[in-house]
Amino acid sequence: MRALIVEDEPTVATDLRLALDGAGFVVDVAQDGEDAWFKGGVEDYDVAVLDLGLPRLDGLSVLKRWRGAERMFPVLILSARSDWTEKVAGIEAGADDYLSKPFEMGELIARVRALVRRAAGRASSTITVGRLVLDTHRMSAMYAGRPIRLSQLEFRFLDYLAHQSKRAVSAGELAEHLYGAAEPGDSNAIEALVVRVRRKLGMEAIQTRRGFGYVLADDGP
Ligand code: CA
Repeated sequence: MRALIVEDEPTVATDLRLALDGAGFVVDVAQDGEDAWFKGGVEDYDVAVLDLGLPRLDGLSVLKRWRGAERMFPVLILSARSDWTEKVAGIEAGADDYLSKPFEMGELIARVRALVRRAAGRASSTITVGRLVLDTHRMSAMYAGRPIRLSQLEFRFLDYLAHQSKRAVSAGELAEHLYGAAEPGDSNAIEALVVRVRRKLGMEAIQTRRGFGYVLADDGP
């Protein structure tokens, strides 16, 4: 999952980056509104955390421009004041959630995860696809009833596939969401990753759709 943090205060931005990284996200940071508008316009994020008070272009304008350009990833707004008019303006501009500063990092992470789940149409922190059960809160996995030990990257890979329901995902798209880049070399890394995960789960767990990409087997428990 890719997250964009838009925050001009360096210490807050660093705390957010570390916390989201620890929660399994690939994170980009924009430090002003114009950079945020650019990144959100060209990159494919799964969620954004957007501060309202920003240099160059304020957060509300960034959000309106994203939505006007059909950039529909979920957005959590951060505001320095607990001002309800600002909250209403944010939600009218297309925000999905709102937190006022100072906030508890644990609450922010829980809300960001909830936004990603909601965007994928799921309400619980457990995702089941076929024989695979992922707990996105504990970052743990079970396959055919047995616990599977996964690296953080392997978990991110399965988590991303599980959020796409039955759509096959290309190696390029996976590289972009797992590494934050889509270089040709990254596609080879994805192939190696698929081999490792198949070794742990079983060959049948991840299917290859020739010409399209990878999809989780969904043949029931
Ligand atoms: Ca600010």
